[in-house]
Amino acid sequence: MSINILTDDIINQIAAGEVIENQSAVVKELVENSIDSGADLIEVFIKNFGLDEILVRDNGMGMDFEDLRKAPLKHTTSKIKNFEDLYSISTMGFRGEALSSIFSVSLAKIISKKDKVGYQICSENLEDIQKVHTNKGTSVFVQNLFYNTPARKKYLKSNNIELKNIVDIFMKFCIFYFDRKFVLKHNNKILINKPIFANLKDNLCYVLGEDLKKDLLDFEFETLGIKISGFLAKPSNLTYSYKKNQYLFVNGRYVKSKLINDAIYDGIGSNLMHNRHPFFVFFLEIDPEIIDVNVHPSKIEIRFENEKEIFNFIKNSVNDIFLKNETSKPFEIDFDFSKELNLEQIGFKINRNNLNKKENKNYNKNYFLEDNQKELEVCENKVVYQKSNKDDFNLNLNSNQYCDILEDKKQEIKEEKEENFGPLFNILSNFKIIGQIHKTYFIIETQNEIFLIDQHAAEEKVFYENFLKEFENKKVKIQNLLKPKIFNLNPKQLILFEENKDFLEKVGFFAEFFGNSQVILRAVPCDFYEKDLNYNIFLEVLDEFDYFNSKILEEQKIEKIALKSCKSAIKAGDELNNLEIKNLVEKMRRLKEPFNCPHGRPVILRWSFYDLEKKFKRIV
Ligand code: ADP
Ligand code: MG
Repeated sequence: MSINILTDDIINQIAAGEVIENQSAVVKELVENSIDSGADLIEVFIKNFGLDEILVRDNGMGMDFEDLRKAPLKHTTSKIKNFEDLYSISTMGFRGEALSSIFSVSLAKIISKKDKVGYQICSENLEDIQKVHTNKGTSVFVQNLFYNTPARKKYLKSNNIELKNIVDIFMKFCIFYFDRKFVLKHNNKILINKPIFANLKDNLCYVLGEDLKKDLLDFEFETLGIKISGFLAKPSNLTYSYKKNQYLFVNGRYVKSKLINDAIYDGIGSNLMHNRHPFFVFFLEIDPEIIDVNVHPSKIEIRFENEKEIFNFIKNSVNDIFLKNETSKPFEIDFDFSKELNLEQIGFKINRNNLNKKENKNYNKNYFLEDNQKELEVCENKVVYQKSNKDDFNLNLNSNQYCDILEDKKQEIKEEKEENFGPLFNILSNFKIIGQIHKTYFIIETQNEIFLIDQHAAEEKVFYENFLKEFENKKVKIQNLLKPKIFNLNPKQLILFEENKDFLEKVGFFAEFFGNSQVILRAVPCDFYEKDLNYNIFLEVLDEFDYFNSKILEEQKIEKIALKSCKSAIKAGDELNNLEIKNLVEKMRRLKEPFNCPHGRPVILRWSFYDLEKKFKRIV
């Protein structure tokens, strides 16, 4: 075996393989160059899926003779000069390898004009630079891509996939650069023609669909050296069953980052339904010195210096989006009044005199405390919380772990400072129970509003938040089982149990090995307790560990586990008496985020009497 020194041509072709893998990479690199040139009109014309020709034309700053001579050479760039510059990159390109790579795997030509005279350079003869008539800006023609590297051509994906990739990449530029015009044509058919917009939102809806507008929450947060802004679709209105329409731009560059994605999902938390994926467009502006964009050939990946701070900043900001938006405008769902019923037709007698009578709206304040509310206060002493009188509760728990749910909850309520409570605390400070309907919902009213509440979703959220709070305070209340449950684990579950035994105890599940393949479950967290089904919940929690990789943070794990607490919540179909409703509402008042259940479904619908009166045309 003898060692050969490769010729420049071959070296170039090998290097080109890293940057120019396919047609969409050509489009990406050339459009990035146009963006860096300051152009606000960028047009891409492709023929035969980019295999015959890709032309990218811009009205940017252009190149003079000397620049044009250097541009297609290896490692030539105007964007960095020295080593330090590598750590403060603010342009799309900087490695100076795109044009040289494209020139080495195609028949290419650049026409460019910076000042008065335009020039042209071709890949066939780099020495022969010609004067040409042209407009200010640059056009790059790429013909017969991979004509001299047949192996690469063979591995291209199907034409349609390549075309889809081109459109995909192009759309990302369109989404970010709202103030530039972009045109994409294939075989003379216009695929994208995006005009200049005054703002990101109009621009985004033009690119991705006008329907989006009503669902978007916009946001902007800033901390030292980092700013995030963008759009998130309300998860109650728009989510997907798989990941799509998730865009992250860091300093104007579309990138992928697991760290940021995880932070966004965590921030959305229980506002998102299980197994659903949110729509978001995030723009992160960050001091270029604390990121490294030079970790991937196509710069799609990015590394952050202070990962933990960035994770927390994004997670908390996203969480704030919900708190802000939901608090100020919590319920947007409206009755469907489009099909108005003719009440007389269906047998109602309407007393027309009543319709005109002005009603006295100055309710006696006690109205909401009287009637059944008073009754409740009387019987409260007698009634024990629904679950604490079940016979398989061991009432001799050690004092730390002892849980008399009713008493504990009452104390907690007294201990907690009011400012920790969420938006319902004041809204529902005086309420009157109207009753349960369909054994699924209950209705309450306040002075100005009527509330329809999903009993299952509401209690789910109570358990969920309660459990997380207890865990955070290292005070998870557990319920010992009077009859400990013995059951089998499969081999995988046995491993998971062994690995996570300590963590499970922290969470409130106390179990021990019992023989070779069995465990005995002695206690579960109160918020998870469900008669006869505790071991099922335990197994579900155990199986969750299978999906956690070792890097996942404890707080992420705990949120996933908390989702399982809903199993023990009141079901649709359970009858509730007024005391039970009252207890539940009191707990809801103390929820931080009461409007959605942990899986993202709404908990409460709300209408003001003013709105109802308008709908009934009592006022116009
Ligand atoms: P990089 O973008 O990493 O600098 P390229 O090989 O893509 O490397 O381009 C080399 C240089 O050619 C750029 O630094 C820039 O100075 C010049 N150039 C390329 N495309 C354009 C364009 N469309 N308009 C003006 N200058 C350009
Ligand atoms: Mg470039």
